[in-house]
Amino acid sequence: MAAARVDLDGRPIRPMTICMIGAGGFIGSHLCEKLLMETPHKILALDVYNDKIKHLLEPDSLHWSDRIQFHRLNIKHDSRLEGLIRMADLTINLAAICTPADYNTRPLDTIYSNFIDALPVVKYCSENNKRLIHFSTCEVYGKTIGSFLPKESPLRQDPSYYVLKEDDSPCIFGPIEKQRWSYACAKQLIERLIYAEGAENGLEFTIVRPFNWIGPRMDFIPGIDGPSEGVPRVLACFSNNLLRREPLKLVDGGQSQRTFVYIKDAIEAVMLMIENPARANGQIFNVGNPHNEVTVRQLAEMMTEVYLKVSGEPPIESPTIDVSSKEFYGEGYDDSDKRIPDMTIINRQLGWNPKTSLWDLLESTLTYQHRTYADAVRKAMANPIPS
Ligand code: NAD
Ligand code: UDP
Repeated sequence: MAAARVDLDGRPIRPMTICMIGAGGFIGSHLCEKLLMETPHKILALDVYNDKIKHLLEPDSLHWSDRIQFHRLNIKHDSRLEGLIRMADLTINLAAICTPADYNTRPLDTIYSNFIDALPVVKYCSENNKRLIHFSTCEVYGKTIGSFLPKESPLRQDPSYYVLKEDDSPCIFGPIEKQRWSYACAKQLIERLIYAEGAENGLEFTIVRPFNWIGPRMDFIPGIDGPSEGVPRVLACFSNNLLRREPLKLVDGGQSQRTFVYIKDAIEAVMLMIENPARANGQIFNVGNPHNEVTVRQLAEMMTEVYLKVSGEPPIESPTIDVSSKEFYGEGYDDSDKRIPDMTIINRQLGWNPKTSLWDLLESTLTYQHRTYADAVRKAMANPIPS
Protein backbone atom coordinates (compact mmCIF):
# COMPACT_ATOMS: atom_id res chain seq x y z
CA MET A 1 0.00 0.00 0.00
CA ALA A 2 2.40 2.67 1.27
CA ALA A 3 5.31 1.93 -1.08
CA ALA A 4 3.22 2.26 -4.25
CA ARG A 5 1.86 5.75 -3.54
CA VAL A 6 2.92 8.38 -6.05
CA ASP A 7 1.83 12.00 -6.51
CA LEU A 8 0.19 13.47 -9.62
CA ASP A 9 3.63 13.96 -11.17
CA GLY A 10 4.70 10.37 -10.59
CA ARG A 11 6.99 11.12 -7.63
CA PRO A 12 6.89 8.80 -4.61
CA ILE A 13 4.97 10.26 -1.65
CA ARG A 14 6.96 10.21 1.57
CA PRO A 15 5.06 9.41 4.79
CA MET A 16 4.35 12.59 6.74
CA THR A 17 3.06 13.65 10.13
CA ILE A 18 -0.07 15.79 10.03
CA CYS A 19 -1.22 18.01 12.89
CA MET A 20 -5.00 18.07 12.39
CA ILE A 21 -6.81 20.69 14.47
CA GLY A 22 -10.55 20.03 14.73
CA ALA A 23 -9.97 16.35 13.86
CA GLY A 24 -12.97 15.30 15.96
CA GLY A 25 -15.50 17.13 13.79
CA PHE A 26 -17.48 16.11 10.71
CA ILE A 27 -14.79 16.74 8.07
CA GLY A 28 -11.95 15.77 10.42
CA SER A 29 -13.48 12.37 11.14
CA HIS A 30 -13.71 11.52 7.43
CA LEU A 31 -10.21 12.81 6.75
CA CYS A 32 -8.74 10.77 9.63
CA GLU A 33 -10.53 7.66 8.38
CA LYS A 34 -9.21 8.09 4.84
CA LEU A 35 -5.64 8.86 5.94
CA LEU A 36 -5.49 5.86 8.26
CA MET A 37 -7.07 3.42 5.83
CA GLU A 38 -5.31 4.42 2.63
CA THR A 39 -2.00 6.11 3.45
CA PRO A 40 1.04 5.64 5.68
CA HIS A 41 0.77 9.15 7.17
CA LYS A 42 0.65 9.83 10.91
CA ILE A 43 -1.97 12.05 12.55
CA LEU A 44 -1.71 14.23 15.63
CA ALA A 45 -5.46 14.70 16.14
CA LEU A 46 -6.38 17.78 18.20
CA ASP A 47 -9.89 18.58 19.38
CA VAL A 48 -12.02 19.25 22.43
CA TYR A 49 -14.16 16.20 21.54
CA ASN A 50 -13.42 12.80 20.01
CA ASP A 51 -16.81 11.06 19.79
CA LYS A 52 -16.76 11.05 15.97
CA ILE A 53 -13.31 9.43 15.79
CA LYS A 54 -13.70 7.01 18.72
CA HIS A 55 -13.88 4.10 16.26
CA LEU A 56 -10.41 5.07 15.01
CA LEU A 57 -8.88 5.39 18.48
CA GLU A 58 -10.19 2.22 20.12
CA PRO A 59 -7.73 -0.65 20.73
CA ASP A 60 -9.34 -3.12 18.32
CA SER A 61 -8.29 -0.99 15.37
CA LEU A 62 -4.72 -1.61 16.46
CA HIS A 63 -3.12 -2.00 13.06
CA TRP A 64 -3.03 1.78 12.74
CA SER A 65 -2.91 2.68 16.43
CA ASP A 66 0.69 3.90 16.17
CA ARG A 67 -0.36 6.33 13.44
CA ILE A 68 -2.99 8.36 15.32
CA GLN A 69 -2.55 10.21 18.60
CA PHE A 70 -5.46 12.11 20.10
CA HIS A 71 -4.72 15.28 22.08
CA ARG A 72 -7.74 16.71 23.90
CA LEU A 73 -7.12 20.43 23.86
CA ASN A 74 -8.72 23.78 23.22
CA ILE A 75 -6.55 25.89 20.91
CA LYS A 76 -7.80 29.05 22.65
CA HIS A 77 -5.53 28.39 25.60
CA ASP A 78 -3.14 25.50 25.40
CA SER A 79 0.61 25.82 25.44
CA ARG A 80 1.02 22.42 23.74
CA LEU A 81 -0.17 23.83 20.39
CA GLU A 82 3.16 25.16 19.10
CA GLY A 83 5.02 21.97 20.06
CA LEU A 84 2.50 19.82 18.18
CA ILE A 85 2.72 22.02 15.08
CA ARG A 86 6.52 21.78 15.23
CA MET A 87 6.36 17.97 15.44
CA ALA A 88 4.35 17.80 12.20
CA ASP A 89 5.26 18.35 8.54
CA LEU A 90 1.83 19.79 7.77
CA THR A 91 -0.92 21.44 9.81
CA ILE A 92 -4.58 21.24 8.76
CA ASN A 93 -6.83 23.68 10.61
CA LEU A 94 -10.51 22.70 10.69
CA ALA A 95 -11.39 24.15 14.11
CA ALA A 96 -14.25 26.64 13.96
CA ILE A 97 -17.72 27.57 15.05
CA CYS A 98 -19.47 26.97 11.74
CA THR A 99 -23.25 26.59 12.23
CA PRO A 100 -25.31 29.53 10.90
CA ALA A 101 -27.57 29.52 13.99
CA ASP A 102 -24.53 30.74 15.97
CA TYR A 103 -23.44 33.55 13.64
CA ASN A 104 -26.14 36.05 14.66
CA THR A 105 -26.76 34.75 18.19
CA ARG A 106 -23.12 34.27 19.29
CA PRO A 107 -21.27 36.70 17.02
CA LEU A 108 -18.39 37.28 19.46
CA ASP A 109 -17.69 33.55 19.85
CA THR A 110 -18.00 33.20 16.08
CA ILE A 111 -15.48 35.96 15.34
CA TYR A 112 -13.05 34.79 18.04
CA SER A 113 -13.25 31.20 16.87
CA ASN A 114 -12.81 31.91 13.16
CA PHE A 115 -10.26 34.71 13.38
CA ILE A 116 -8.57 35.28 16.76
CA ASP A 117 -8.17 31.58 17.66
CA ALA A 118 -6.73 30.80 14.22
CA LEU A 119 -4.02 33.50 14.52
CA PRO A 120 -1.54 31.47 16.64
CA VAL A 121 -1.91 28.52 14.24
CA VAL A 122 -0.91 30.71 11.29
CA LYS A 123 1.89 32.33 13.28
CA TYR A 124 3.39 29.02 14.48
CA CYS A 125 3.27 27.59 10.95
CA SER A 126 4.92 30.69 9.51
CA GLU A 127 7.63 30.97 12.19
CA ASN A 128 8.48 27.27 12.05
CA ASN A 129 8.34 26.99 8.23
CA LYS A 130 5.50 24.47 8.34
CA ARG A 131 2.95 24.00 5.61
CA LEU A 132 -0.66 24.97 6.43
CA ILE A 133 -3.95 23.82 4.88
CA HIS A 134 -6.57 26.15 6.30
CA PHE A 135 -10.32 25.56 6.05
CA SER A 136 -12.21 28.68 5.05
CA THR A 137 -15.71 28.67 3.53
CA CYS A 138 -17.66 29.38 0.34
CA GLU A 139 -19.48 31.90 2.48
CA VAL A 140 -16.61 34.37 1.96
CA TYR A 141 -18.27 35.11 -1.39
CA GLY A 142 -21.43 36.20 0.47
CA LYS A 143 -24.19 37.13 -1.94
CA THR A 144 -23.99 36.92 -5.74
CA ILE A 145 -23.74 40.05 -7.89
CA GLY A 146 -26.89 38.81 -9.63
CA SER A 147 -28.92 39.02 -6.42
CA PHE A 148 -28.78 42.82 -6.67
CA LEU A 149 -30.32 42.87 -10.16
CA PRO A 150 -34.08 43.34 -10.64
CA LYS A 151 -35.92 39.98 -10.30
CA GLU A 152 -36.90 39.98 -13.97
CA SER A 153 -33.47 40.97 -15.35
CA PRO A 154 -32.25 38.48 -18.02
CA LEU A 155 -28.71 39.04 -16.69
CA ARG A 156 -29.63 36.87 -13.70
CA GLN A 157 -29.33 33.91 -16.10
CA ASP A 158 -25.80 34.93 -17.11
CA PRO A 159 -23.22 32.80 -15.22
CA SER A 160 -20.87 35.76 -14.91
CA TYR A 161 -23.40 37.19 -12.41
CA TYR A 162 -23.47 34.17 -10.13
CA VAL A 163 -20.63 31.63 -10.67
CA LEU A 164 -18.12 32.06 -7.83
CA LYS A 165 -14.46 32.24 -8.87
CA GLU A 166 -11.57 32.21 -6.41
CA ASP A 167 -9.44 34.80 -8.25
CA ASP A 168 -12.19 36.97 -9.65
CA SER A 169 -15.43 37.16 -7.64
CA PRO A 170 -15.92 39.88 -5.03
CA CYS A 171 -16.92 39.13 -1.42
CA ILE A 172 -20.34 40.75 -0.85
CA PHE A 173 -21.69 40.87 2.69
CA GLY A 174 -24.75 42.56 4.20
CA PRO A 175 -24.68 45.44 6.72
CA ILE A 176 -23.04 45.05 10.16
CA GLU A 177 -26.41 44.73 11.92
CA LYS A 178 -26.96 41.57 9.91
CA GLN A 179 -24.68 39.60 12.20
CA ARG A 180 -24.99 36.53 9.98
CA TRP A 181 -21.93 37.89 8.18
CA SER A 182 -19.69 37.79 11.27
CA TYR A 183 -18.54 34.29 10.26
CA ALA A 184 -17.89 35.13 6.60
CA CYS A 185 -16.06 38.30 7.54
CA ALA A 186 -13.82 36.55 10.12
CA LYS A 187 -13.02 33.81 7.59
CA GLN A 188 -12.23 36.41 4.94
CA LEU A 189 -9.81 38.24 7.22
CA ILE A 190 -7.96 35.06 8.22
CA GLU A 191 -7.70 34.18 4.50
CA ARG A 192 -6.18 37.60 3.84
CA LEU A 193 -3.76 37.18 6.74
CA ILE A 194 -2.65 33.74 5.52
CA TYR A 195 -2.24 35.10 2.00
CA ALA A 196 -0.15 37.98 3.35
CA GLU A 197 2.02 35.56 5.39
CA GLY A 198 2.62 33.73 2.12
CA ALA A 199 3.49 36.90 0.24
CA GLU A 200 5.67 38.57 2.91
CA ASN A 201 7.11 35.68 4.92
CA GLY A 202 6.97 32.75 2.51
CA LEU A 203 4.34 30.68 4.38
CA GLU A 204 3.42 27.61 2.33
CA PHE A 205 -0.36 27.56 2.49
CA THR A 206 -3.48 26.18 0.84
CA ILE A 207 -6.93 27.63 1.55
CA VAL A 208 -9.99 25.41 1.11
CA ARG A 209 -13.44 26.88 0.49
CA PRO A 210 -15.97 24.07 1.06
CA PHE A 211 -19.35 24.41 -0.66
CA ASN A 212 -21.90 22.55 1.54
CA TRP A 213 -20.12 19.22 2.12
CA ILE A 214 -22.63 16.77 3.53
CA GLY A 215 -22.74 13.14 4.66
CA PRO A 216 -22.76 10.85 7.70
CA ARG A 217 -21.62 12.28 11.07
CA MET A 218 -22.50 15.86 10.12
CA ASP A 219 -23.49 17.89 13.20
CA PHE A 220 -25.97 16.30 15.63
CA ILE A 221 -29.59 15.32 16.09
CA PRO A 222 -31.13 17.69 18.67
CA GLY A 223 -32.06 15.91 21.90
CA ILE A 224 -30.18 12.74 20.88
CA ASP A 225 -26.49 13.55 20.53
CA GLY A 226 -26.75 17.32 20.87
CA PRO A 227 -28.78 19.90 22.81
CA SER A 228 -32.59 19.71 22.36
CA GLU A 229 -32.75 23.41 21.54
CA GLY A 230 -29.67 23.32 19.25
CA VAL A 231 -30.02 24.23 15.55
CA PRO A 232 -27.54 22.33 13.35
CA ARG A 233 -26.97 22.82 9.60
CA VAL A 234 -29.73 21.99 7.13
CA LEU A 235 -28.90 18.28 6.61
CA ALA A 236 -29.23 17.53 10.33
CA CYS A 237 -32.27 19.83 10.76
CA PHE A 238 -34.15 18.05 7.99
CA SER A 239 -32.94 14.60 9.17
CA ASN A 240 -34.25 15.41 12.64
CA ASN A 241 -37.65 16.41 11.23
CA LEU A 242 -37.83 13.23 9.14
CA LEU A 243 -36.82 10.98 12.06
CA ARG A 244 -39.52 12.60 14.22
CA ARG A 245 -42.11 12.51 11.43
CA GLU A 246 -42.68 16.26 11.61
CA PRO A 247 -42.77 18.82 8.76
CA LEU A 248 -39.45 20.13 7.44
CA LYS A 249 -39.12 23.85 8.18
CA LEU A 250 -38.44 26.02 5.13
CA VAL A 251 -36.78 29.27 6.16
CA ASP A 252 -38.23 32.24 4.25
CA GLY A 253 -39.90 29.90 1.76
CA GLY A 254 -36.80 27.74 1.05
CA GLN A 255 -35.93 29.81 -2.02
CA SER A 256 -32.15 30.01 -1.42
CA GLN A 257 -30.08 27.80 -3.65
CA ARG A 258 -27.19 25.54 -2.66
CA THR A 259 -24.90 23.01 -4.32
CA PHE A 260 -24.21 19.94 -2.17
CA VAL A 261 -21.16 17.72 -2.49
CA TYR A 262 -20.72 14.29 -0.92
CA ILE A 263 -18.17 14.31 1.89
CA LYS A 264 -16.35 11.32 0.40
CA ASP A 265 -15.83 13.14 -2.93
CA ALA A 266 -14.64 16.26 -1.14
CA ILE A 267 -12.18 14.29 1.00
CA GLU A 268 -10.55 13.05 -2.22
CA ALA A 269 -9.83 16.68 -3.09
CA VAL A 270 -8.22 17.29 0.33
CA MET A 271 -6.08 14.16 -0.09
CA LEU A 272 -4.80 15.52 -3.41
CA MET A 273 -3.89 18.81 -1.69
CA ILE A 274 -2.08 16.97 1.12
CA GLU A 275 -0.03 14.80 -1.22
CA ASN A 276 0.68 17.35 -3.98
CA PRO A 277 2.18 20.36 -2.20
CA ALA A 278 3.86 21.71 -5.32
CA ARG A 279 0.45 21.96 -7.01
CA ALA A 280 -1.52 23.07 -3.95
CA ASN A 281 0.74 25.61 -2.25
CA GLY A 282 -0.26 29.24 -2.68
CA GLN A 283 -3.71 28.23 -3.96
CA ILE A 284 -7.26 28.93 -2.84
CA PHE A 285 -9.58 26.09 -3.88
CA ASN A 286 -13.36 25.98 -4.26
CA VAL A 287 -14.44 22.42 -3.39
CA GLY A 288 -18.04 21.69 -4.34
CA ASN A 289 -20.31 20.06 -6.90
CA PRO A 290 -21.78 22.58 -9.37
CA HIS A 291 -24.05 19.87 -10.81
CA ASN A 292 -25.91 19.26 -7.54
CA GLU A 293 -27.81 22.55 -7.33
CA VAL A 294 -31.24 22.74 -5.69
CA THR A 295 -33.36 25.27 -3.83
CA VAL A 296 -33.76 24.44 -0.14
CA ARG A 297 -37.39 23.57 -0.91
CA GLN A 298 -36.26 21.06 -3.55
CA LEU A 299 -33.76 19.63 -1.08
CA ALA A 300 -36.58 19.13 1.45
CA GLU A 301 -38.69 17.37 -1.17
CA MET A 302 -35.85 15.11 -2.28
CA MET A 303 -34.81 14.26 1.29
CA THR A 304 -38.40 13.36 2.11
CA GLU A 305 -38.68 11.05 -0.90
CA VAL A 306 -35.33 9.36 -0.19
CA TYR A 307 -36.09 8.99 3.52
CA LEU A 308 -39.45 7.33 2.88
CA LYS A 309 -37.66 4.91 0.55
CA VAL A 310 -34.88 3.96 2.99
CA SER A 311 -37.08 3.84 6.12
CA GLY A 312 -40.12 2.18 4.54
CA GLU A 313 -42.34 4.64 6.44
CA PRO A 314 -45.55 6.14 4.97
CA PRO A 315 -45.64 9.89 4.14
CA ILE A 316 -47.02 12.47 6.60
CA GLU A 317 -49.86 14.80 5.66
CA SER A 318 -47.91 18.11 5.49
CA PRO A 319 -44.29 17.35 4.63
CA THR A 320 -43.05 20.98 4.81
CA ILE A 321 -43.94 24.16 6.66
CA ASP A 322 -42.83 27.76 6.01
CA VAL A 323 -41.12 29.65 8.81
CA SER A 324 -39.65 33.15 8.87
CA SER A 325 -35.90 33.49 9.37
CA LYS A 326 -36.55 35.76 12.36
CA GLU A 327 -38.58 33.05 14.03
CA PHE A 328 -36.11 30.28 13.13
CA TYR A 329 -32.74 31.99 13.61
CA GLY A 330 -33.62 35.24 15.42
CA GLU A 331 -32.65 38.86 14.71
CA GLY A 332 -29.70 39.52 12.40
CA TYR A 333 -30.02 36.48 10.13
CA ASP A 334 -29.39 36.94 6.41
CA ASP A 335 -28.68 34.41 3.66
CA SER A 336 -26.46 33.62 0.69
CA ASP A 337 -28.79 33.45 -2.30
CA LYS A 338 -26.93 31.03 -4.58
CA ARG A 339 -23.62 29.15 -4.54
CA ILE A 340 -22.19 27.68 -7.73
CA PRO A 341 -18.46 26.95 -7.45
CA ASP A 342 -16.21 27.57 -10.44
CA MET A 343 -14.05 24.44 -10.74
CA THR A 344 -11.36 25.73 -13.12
CA ILE A 345 -8.56 26.09 -10.57
CA ILE A 346 -8.99 22.78 -8.75
CA ASN A 347 -9.37 21.03 -12.08
CA ARG A 348 -6.23 22.58 -13.49
CA GLN A 349 -4.06 22.07 -10.39
CA LEU A 350 -5.31 18.73 -9.07
CA GLY A 351 -7.51 17.23 -11.81
CA TRP A 352 -10.28 16.75 -9.22
CA ASN A 353 -13.96 16.35 -10.07
CA PRO A 354 -16.89 15.43 -7.82
CA LYS A 355 -18.67 12.19 -8.76
CA THR A 356 -21.75 11.60 -6.60
CA SER A 357 -25.23 12.83 -7.58
CA LEU A 358 -27.46 14.49 -4.99
CA TRP A 359 -29.88 11.58 -4.99
CA ASP A 360 -27.10 9.03 -4.40
CA LEU A 361 -25.43 11.01 -1.64
CA LEU A 362 -28.75 11.55 0.11
CA GLU A 363 -29.55 7.86 -0.17
CA SER A 364 -26.33 6.78 1.56
CA THR A 365 -26.50 9.60 4.12
CA LEU A 366 -30.15 9.06 5.07
CA THR A 367 -29.59 5.30 5.28
CA TYR A 368 -26.90 6.12 7.84
CA GLN A 369 -29.14 8.60 9.70
CA HIS A 370 -31.96 6.08 9.90
CA ARG A 371 -29.68 3.25 11.04
CA THR A 372 -27.93 5.44 13.62
CA TYR A 373 -30.80 7.42 15.09
CA ALA A 374 -34.27 5.93 14.38
CA ASP A 375 -34.42 3.79 17.55
CA ALA A 376 -33.03 6.51 19.80
CA VAL A 377 -35.52 9.06 18.43
CA ARG A 378 -38.41 6.63 18.86
CA LYS A 379 -37.41 6.02 22.49
CA ALA A 380 -36.91 9.72 23.20
CA MET A 381 -40.33 10.52 21.75
CA ALA A 382 -41.98 7.75 23.78
CA ASN A 383 -40.40 9.03 27.02
CA PRO A 384 -40.16 12.80 26.72
CA ILE A 385 -38.18 14.45 29.53
CA PRO A 386 -40.67 16.50 31.64
CA SER A 387 -39.90 20.23 31.40
P1 NAD B 1 -17.39 20.64 12.80
O1 NAD B 1 -18.02 21.60 13.74
O2 NAD B 1 -17.98 19.29 12.67
O3 NAD B 1 -15.84 20.48 13.16
C1 NAD B 1 -15.06 21.48 13.78
C2 NAD B 1 -14.28 20.82 14.91
O4 NAD B 1 -13.41 21.80 15.48
C3 NAD B 1 -15.19 20.33 16.06
O5 NAD B 1 -14.95 18.97 16.36
C4 NAD B 1 -14.84 21.22 17.24
O6 NAD B 1 -14.89 20.57 18.50
C5 NAD B 1 -13.40 21.62 16.87
N1 NAD B 1 -13.02 22.88 17.52
C6 NAD B 1 -13.67 24.07 17.44
N2 NAD B 1 -13.05 24.99 18.18
C7 NAD B 1 -11.98 24.37 18.75
C8 NAD B 1 -10.97 24.80 19.64
N3 NAD B 1 -10.95 26.05 20.11
N4 NAD B 1 -10.02 23.92 20.02
C9 NAD B 1 -10.05 22.63 19.57
N5 NAD B 1 -10.99 22.16 18.71
C10 NAD B 1 -11.95 23.02 18.32
O7 NAD B 1 -17.34 21.36 11.37
P2 NAD B 1 -16.93 20.79 9.93
O8 NAD B 1 -18.13 20.75 9.07
O9 NAD B 1 -16.10 19.56 10.07
O10 NAD B 1 -16.04 22.00 9.40
C11 NAD B 1 -14.63 22.04 9.47
C12 NAD B 1 -14.12 23.33 8.84
O11 NAD B 1 -14.60 23.46 7.50
C13 NAD B 1 -14.54 24.61 9.57
O12 NAD B 1 -13.46 25.50 9.57
C14 NAD B 1 -15.67 25.17 8.73
O13 NAD B 1 -15.76 26.57 8.84
C15 NAD B 1 -15.26 24.71 7.33
N6 NAD B 1 -16.45 24.58 6.45
C16 NAD B 1 -17.18 23.42 6.42
C17 NAD B 1 -18.27 23.34 5.55
C18 NAD B 1 -19.08 22.09 5.39
O14 NAD B 1 -19.77 21.99 4.39
N7 NAD B 1 -19.05 21.12 6.28
C19 NAD B 1 -18.63 24.43 4.77
C20 NAD B 1 -17.88 25.60 4.86
C21 NAD B 1 -16.78 25.65 5.70
N1 UDP C 1 -32.59 26.01 6.25
C1 UDP C 1 -33.96 25.74 6.24
N2 UDP C 1 -34.48 24.95 7.22
C2 UDP C 1 -33.74 24.39 8.20
C3 UDP C 1 -32.33 24.67 8.22
C4 UDP C 1 -31.79 25.48 7.22
O1 UDP C 1 -34.69 26.21 5.35
O2 UDP C 1 -34.29 23.66 9.05
C5 UDP C 1 -31.97 26.82 5.15
C6 UDP C 1 -31.11 28.01 5.57
O3 UDP C 1 -31.91 29.16 5.80
C7 UDP C 1 -30.19 28.15 4.36
C8 UDP C 1 -30.00 26.72 3.87
O4 UDP C 1 -31.08 25.97 4.45
O5 UDP C 1 -30.86 28.89 3.34
C9 UDP C 1 -28.68 26.07 4.22
O6 UDP C 1 -28.45 26.16 5.59
P1 UDP C 1 -27.20 25.55 6.35
O7 UDP C 1 -27.49 25.64 7.82
O8 UDP C 1 -26.86 24.21 5.85
O9 UDP C 1 -25.97 26.53 6.08
P2 UDP C 1 -25.49 27.50 4.91
O10 UDP C 1 -25.53 26.77 3.62
O11 UDP C 1 -26.40 28.70 4.92
O12 UDP C 1 -24.11 27.85 5.33
